[in-house]
Amino acid sequence: MSNSERYIFLNGEYKTKEQATVSVFDHGFLYGDGVFEGIRVYSGNVFRLREHLDRLYDSAKAILLTIPYTMDELEKHIVECVRKNDLTDAYLRLVVSRGIGELGLDPDRCSSANVVIIADQVRLYPKSLYEQGLPIVTASTRRISPDALDPRVKSLNYLNNILAKIEAKQAGTEEALMLNSSGYVAECTADNIFIVKKGIIYTPPSYVGALEGVTRKAIIDLAGKLGLTVTEEPFTLQSVYTADEVFITGTAAEVIPVVKVDTRQINDGKPGPVMKQLLEAFQKLVKIEGTQCYPEKVGLSK
Ligand code: PMP
Repeated sequence: MSNSERYIFLNGEYKTKEQATVSVFDHGFLYGDGVFEGIRVYSGNVFRLREHLDRLYDSAKAILLTIPYTMDELEKHIVECVRKNDLTDAYLRLVVSRGIGELGLDPDRCSSANVVIIADQVRLYPKSLYEQGLPIVTASTRRISPDALDPRVKSLNYLNNILAKIEAKQAGTEEALMLNSSGYVAECTADNIFIVKKGIIYTPPSYVGALEGVTRKAIIDLAGKLGLTVTEEPFTLQSVYTADEVFITGTAAEVIPVVKVDTRQINDGKPGPVMKQLLEAFQKLVKIEGTQCYPEKVGLSK
């Protein structure tokens, strides 16, 4: 099935790519008023779907946005959307925007939320990135303060991250590290960050300015199972520069080693053993865990 033949879920109906449009009066478009999720499907299984839905509903609750489906209903629609598009490995984009309103900010004047599910082919990062590692830079754009917009809210307001992404691209790389306004490391533009020092894994807590990533949580869980110690605590760039390993995690990225930060090589400039161990465990996990989209086929392909 080609991209132009894909079916997009829009408020309970399936539309082609050309038909799947929302109004220019949608407050998601006018103001970035809405919430979203990026979700992966591996071999017909939606990875940690309930965690993504929990985060979506919590984000919606935080901005007083009513999602016009129960979590069970939305879960069914997501599975159906994957099936309808005949996908087994996919990237899903789930968007709930405030809906059509007036030109003023007032969300109470918006009719009802628009709910969109896009199931697309997954565009994998090149394998070389996992083998050689990624150089990143620290953005001068600081992460929006948690007391202005809580980072646990995955809202359509991504301008802050986009500004940092522009800095990354201008520096010739794909990801940028974002600090919070006190200078603590928060996260990357679309990924969480981990560092390893003397065998201990550190990642910033969400109150520093990090999204509570689903992959981040999976990596913390896996590290625990592998007998590794993970500590959620604030750290500065000094800890990153002097780390034994640095890696980033995200739904699209999975686990990517970072081998250079700004002008500084991390350790010997090669992906480290802890990251490799966690990536391997993560890739095993996604094969066995998840919400099955094709239960009737389970067992047939194995
Ligand atoms: N931080 C930000 C700002 C992100 O947009 C993402 C991607 N959703 C992440 C971290 C990683 O989160 P997850 O593992 O849930 O994809």
